[in-house]
Amino acid sequence: MKTDAFALRHIGPRETDLQHMLQTIGVESIEQLVYETLPDDIRLKAPLNLDPAMTEYEFSNHILQLGNKNKLFKTYIGLGYNQAIVPAVIQRNVFENPGWYTAYTPYQAEIAQGRLEAILNFQTTVIELTGMEIANASLLDEGTAAAEAMALLLDVRSRDQKKNNVNKFFVSEEILPQTLSVLQTRATPIGVELVIGNHETFDFSTEFFGAILQYPGKYGQVYDYTSFIEKAAANEIKVAVAADILSLAKLTPPGEMGAAVVVGTTQRFGIPLGYGGPHAAYFATKDEYKRSMPGRIIGVTVDTNGNRALRMALQTREQHIKRDKATSNICTAQVLLSVMAGMYAVYHGPKGLQYIANKVHAAAATLANELKTLGIEQVNSAFFDTILVKADAKKVKAVAEANEVNFYYVDENTISISLNETTSVSDVNDIITIFAEALSLQPSTVSDFTETNHYPENLNRTSAFLAHDVFNKYHSETALMRYIKMLERKDLALNHSMISLGSCTMKLNAAAEMLPLSNPNWNNIHPFAPLDQAQGYQEMLKKLEQQLNVITGFAGTTLQPNSGAQGEYAGLMVIRAYHQSRGDDHRNIALIPSSAHGTNPASAAMAGMKVVVTKTLENGNIDVEDLREKAILHKDNLSCLMVTYPSTHGVFESAIKEITQLIHDNGGQVYMDGANMNAQVGLTNPATIGADVCHLNLHKTFAIPHGGGGPGVGPICVAPQLVPFLPGNPVIPTGGETAITAISAAPWGSALVCLISYGYISMLGADGLKSCTEHAILNANYIKEKLNGHYDTLYSGEMGRAAHEMILECRPFKQKGIEVTDIAKRLMDYGFHAPTVSFPVAGTLMIEPTESENLEELDRFCDAMISIRKEIEAATIEDSNNVLKNSPHTLAMLTTETWEFPYTREQAAFPLEYIAENKFWPSVRRADDAFGDRNLICSCAPIEAYMEEN
Ligand SMILES: *Cc1c(COP(=O)(O)O)cnc(C)c1O
Repeated sequence: MKTDAFALRHIGPRETDLQHMLQTIGVESIEQLVYETLPDDIRLKAPLNLDPAMTEYEFSNHILQLGNKNKLFKTYIGLGYNQAIVPAVIQRNVFENPGWYTAYTPYQAEIAQGRLEAILNFQTTVIELTGMEIANASLLDEGTAAAEAMALLLDVRSRDQKKNNVNKFFVSEEILPQTLSVLQTRATPIGVELVIGNHETFDFSTEFFGAILQYPGKYGQVYDYTSFIEKAAANEIKVAVAADILSLAKLTPPGEMGAAVVVGTTQRFGIPLGYGGPHAAYFATKDEYKRSMPGRIIGVTVDTNGNRALRMALQTREQHIKRDKATSNICTAQVLLSVMAGMYAVYHGPKGLQYIANKVHAAAATLANELKTLGIEQVNSAFFDTILVKADAKKVKAVAEANEVNFYYVDENTISISLNETTSVSDVNDIITIFAEALSLQPSTVSDFTETNHYPENLNRTSAFLAHDVFNKYHSETALMRYIKMLERKDLALNHSMISLGSCTMKLNAAAEMLPLSNPNWNNIHPFAPLDQAQGYQEMLKKLEQQLNVITGFAGTTLQPNSGAQGEYAGLMVIRAYHQSRGDDHRNIALIPSSAHGTNPASAAMAGMKVVVTKTLENGNIDVEDLREKAILHKDNLSCLMVTYPSTHGVFESAIKEITQLIHDNGGQVYMDGANMNAQVGLTNPATIGADVCHLNLHKTFAIPHGGGGPGVGPICVAPQLVPFLPGNPVIPTGGETAITAISAAPWGSALVCLISYGYISMLGADGLKSCTEHAILNANYIKEKLNGHYDTLYSGEMGRAAHEMILECRPFKQKGIEVTDIAKRLMDYGFHAPTVSFPVAGTLMIEPTESENLEELDRFCDAMISIRKEIEAATIEDSNNVLKNSPHTLAMLTTETWEFPYTREQAAFPLEYIAENKFWPSVRRADDAFGDRNLICSCAPIEAYMEEN
């Protein structure tokens, strides 16, 4: 046996545990278990055709060499991406720390107070820099955030009688090219007509419901939008502004100009370029629009004792919960990156941010002055960090590239240069030398940056920001390190215990997969760098696409979508383009089973499709007869079926091939939601079951960490007929031959984290991947059998097996006054994060252990569940003063002078023996959602509160 095989590190159960586990389940072998789980007619006959598995050591050498093929030029391309300095203290204590990156979305607030506070800091930073009233916890990138702004303005339009039938949206020609492309993609299916033009000549016609502007413009020109927004308001046109977050430390924020929405990226707040992502986009708006807002919002509330507690606010407002009434499908966002950007603001504070903004501006101003001295024209009359220079682009490019420098070449005679936080005096001198050499001029040098502002006085920011304590007391490394640690201690992540979230697949995020992310050869490449400077990336991404093609059985893959939901949207838009290419523009019906994840109907609605819901049988399977009826009824207009496989109920439906055939027979395409791919890899695949396109959640099945709610990558893999329509990018050509416009801003989405999935697949190889799937099924069925007799499992396959996850019935406990939430909260006392609560069936728990958990952990979890079951048995509906209803128990409760509960302190906090060794203390009692929603606060205390104190 090769004891250095990565599979042995990734997969939890040991060889020596197998016999016991199989015996518990009641099978002879893993083969028998798989036979009893998967329908035979969909089993793959041959192993996946992948390269032999690498060891961790081999992979680290391989990725180092591949990284050397990426060339680290000094890059001044800008266009929404700027090199930033990642403070080492944040890199080490957040970015490279599993306590942060392996956490789940903070649905269980009591064990997530740390990242909730970190995100609140992010929201506060955004609110105050933009001058807006409310901000969310992040979106996927600036392009999609701009599209969400358009969707919000369209949504609030309908409240306005006069604007009800108006569908035009003005887009300034100063918008970033990739943002424009994403807007184009998103506008058409929802009936919005984009009108692109010059904002200075815009006629404010009443046919418009909204507009979007870029601040500063794409090549750096700074405009005062005050009068535009005023005139727009007079004509009831609401204005969104895409703004550079760093510039807002110096420039008048759009909120003070009257903007309705402000969006942008926070990449330059200490997030690596990563060849396009992941980065956290921000979205800020007015309080009156909060219910139309996309994404999640962190809010302040109180716990059972009246102490301050944070939690996700207005969850019933979360868009995808509204299904086909949703205006956005966002689920996974960019939490880890928003935590980092928020920490950047905490670390630098208002003075530090101003210093950085001043320095960047001074660098640009110095360069502009010096080029002018050389006789080179600079055309931006007002700018922040980007200057636009008139010079022979061809000549400059040749010299620049020889000196390993990238500018952005707008046309033959125009060059855009964006400076950034890293730009030094010597960098500016290098740029001057390049221009002098290219244009045969006498070079000069500067010895320091000038300090004069190159924009009108009235655009100088005068309002204060980030006056709160948190942004003003962690400016030494010791202080910040301890603050980060204090927050981390409040959060339960995978480095503490199993997080058995059904559908979400919280598996190991191996260190060997994560390490390359810290290497500048990977994390410091601009997404629009010339391809010949990104050969390492190009090889890696192509290889990953091929690997995913092999795994899914499909012909083509795009890595562009930044989340599963965005993958759904991409897949549906590709299906739409396919139908249109055949003259079938009218095919717009999406059949979706009632058990589908909320993002499915939300994505369909965004893709302009009409959702027809199909029935689910008593046993959880698709009602094939109902489906047949509806497929035939709608056969002339059928676009597609969206189906999750194995089903959201954790079952491999044996009728799946019949189902996909039925859809094809009626002219539709089959979209497979790949969230449950962890039960398929190496055993079957979407192509085999008859699907045409699927998304994969690389942050579920393929080991990218959840990061507390993002980053994610949601590639789609497609059958040959759909390959030509895979999405493109307006700056760097990519995608199919007749590509649809962009789904995400960056050509390859969040390329940096694709390294993780690439490492995962490369180190496991065909056998390892298959073994992962088998062990995922083994672990799930082991839990199912261990809990048998204590909890009922809702659905099973025809031979009584679960797939990789199972649903536990908890509704009968209501007779004892116990809700499923009580079990979720009580699990915290046992040191566990709850499984998925109330999805896909309300009042149940869905457990997915994954292959990475070992037998000891599975046993501890089962012991906890069985112990809780006994507590439920002892509970009565008459008396809610019990150990379940009062859970979770905090250290503060346990150490009070008098103990007033009808059970012991030990029963409260140490109900089982294993807990003492590894106790996790929830930092607050139950967070009160209703109170928080009634009194919505989504930033640190308002500035005035601090001003009054001081
Ligand atoms: C997670 C999930 C999604 C959405 O994926 P995101 O990456 O969060 O956007 C869609 N469908 C199912 C079944 C899922 O489990």
